Amino acid sequence: MTQKVLVLPGDGIGKEIVAEAVKVINVLKADHGLDLDLTYGDIGGAAYDADGHPYPPSTQKLAKEADAILLGAVGGYQYDDLPRDLRPERGLLGIRADLELFSNLRPAILMEELADASSLKAEVVAGLDIMIVRELTGGIYFGEPRGIRTLDNGEKQGYNTLVYKESEIERIAHSAFKIAMKRDKRLCSVGKANVLEVMELWAEVVERVGKEYPEVELSHMYVDNAAMQLVKAPKQFDVMVTGNMFGDILSDAAAMLTGSIGMLPSASLDKNGKGMYEPIHGSAPDIEGKNLANPLATITSVSMMLKYSLGNTELADKVDAAVTTVIQQGFRTADIYVDGVAGTKLVGTSEIGDAVVAALKD
Ligand code: NAD
Repeated sequence: MTQKVLVLPGDGIGKEIVAEAVKVINVLKADHGLDLDLTYGDIGGAAYDADGHPYPPSTQKLAKEADAILLGAVGGYQYDDLPRDLRPERGLLGIRADLELFSNLRPAILMEELADASSLKAEVVAGLDIMIVRELTGGIYFGEPRGIRTLDNGEKQGYNTLVYKESEIERIAHSAFKIAMKRDKRLCSVGKANVLEVMELWAEVVERVGKEYPEVELSHMYVDNAAMQLVKAPKQFDVMVTGNMFGDILSDAAAMLTGSIGMLPSASLDKNGKGMYEPIHGSAPDIEGKNLANPLATITSVSMMLKYSLGNTELADKVDAAVTTVIQQGFRTADIYVDGVAGTKLVGTSEIGDAVVAALKD
């Protein structure tokens, strides 16, 4: 049966990097028997410009009908003065909440050839392969009450609420344990149970769910220590599971261990495996339209989509192998180019996309 994928290029470099990913999908359709129907929609600033809302009803409808969604990025300086509810980032939070995409998978993998691009010593990061599982639809980013109020003395006070229900912790824990089962069977739950009651409950529930996965070695770590360990000895981790805000921060730190956020994909899944796939970086307005953006994170987002939502591990592996080949051939966009490394060549967005297409055709 033909599967349906909604493509949401979004803003900034979103359109450029998604175009390269679509080239790859088209080769998979033409040469590798992938039966996929692509439809396009707007999100973020592009949707605000077209429809007056960052996640308009037309996109909501398309998103509900799709088997999976491929997203570029959202955001742009020109939207900074809009009311908070109409800003591009609200479109992203909106679609995640609307589709209940509670499980965010963010791999941080460092190909040996790119170890020089990391700011850490090559021996600390070479061969790194971590999966961070971040809860995405709860926690402090969504908790109520929230706002800015004026106190009796006239001083303003900002407040947000960090809340998690047992059911929310259970489902993300199951998601993380299942992923750990497919990897090295080690899961580290990251929290702050020494200070926050909500994270005490988090640890308790993860421990309870862990009884159903006796083969997985479960450990717990406070978030401050986890941040430290990630830069000190990141290879100790296999899978990490954590809440929305901690995961946001830790996964960006883990991303930078690999040298460039232009290399890292992500998946956000619902309970049935339907998902939205996007690079972890933003819309990079500073390099928009200059053929400088690295599209490889978007291309490996396609491979995650094939694996987690479309049930096609074989083609996912082919895409990953093609990306590895391109790196081994020495192609580098500016973000991963290190001057003086023999055998590498500096190329633009479309050239590296073409190289992946060529590798898939070989
Ligand atoms: P950013 O990720 O867009 O850019 C950070 C830096 O990384 C910039 O120097 C940029 O040029 C570089 N960069 C990012 N992606 C790259 C790529 N593929 N290839 C080469 N270099 C790349 O973060 P920012 O500058 O803080 O935010 C810019 C806009 O993006 C803001 O409006 C922000 O709200 C939005 N944003 C969106 C998402 C998303 O769509 N998921 C995530 C983060 C930020």
